[in-house]
Amino acid sequence: MTHAIADEFLLDYASGAAPAPVALLVATHLTLNPEARRSYRRLEAIGGALLETIEPTAPAPDCLAQLLARIDAGEGVAAEPRPAIRAALPGLPAPLAALIPGGLDSLAWRKLAKGVEEATLDVDSKAGCKATLLRIAAGRAIPKHTHRGLEMSLVLEGAFADEAGRYGRGDVCVTDESIEHQPTAENERDCLCLAVADGPIRLTGPFMRLLNPFLPR
Ligand code: ZN
Repeated sequence: MTHAIADEFLLDYASGAAPAPVALLVATHLTLNPEARRSYRRLEAIGGALLETIEPTAPAPDCLAQLLARIDAGEGVAAEPRPAIRAALPGLPAPLAALIPGGLDSLAWRKLAKGVEEATLDVDSKAGCKATLLRIAAGRAIPKHTHRGLEMSLVLEGAFADEAGRYGRGDVCVTDESIEHQPTAENERDCLCLAVADGPIRLTGPFMRLLNPFLPR
């Protein structure tokens, strides 16, 4: 059992309605998560007519076929988990590898909290929706927080756990205003996530004032 994303996001993605950061997350999720791929194929099978009624904004006519062909070819799917994030670079899923040709070290990482770094990705972020990579050192946690909108976190390497469960490579954690959580990386190795948020998070822990730099700018 994996944490695959809900069908509504797959439909938004398929129809071209998803904002660019969400589309990036879904495309990456599809390369990593077999359960999501099955759902996507099921939607594709029943959805030819359905997708037409959604009136796509402009996906190429063959974009679904192209994507599925790439997935079938195993593109972007790393064979084995790797011990360190840098060594995992060749395993970055294709949608991310294309976006970060210089690799993880080419990004402008900034420290959010002890053992937690973030780098903003160059993805169209209109409407306040943005994509970032989050690196959580083994055993470290993102400060406890709630959200002012939707937050989606896709695990690329390692794993984290929060109050709702455990998320490993290919899993997506979706939260909103109603959820307070403290994602904590497992002890064995660092956790790398692709995060998409459509609103700033709100810290709720006792040290939130000290952690002001953590708040999105
Ligand atoms: Zn969160």
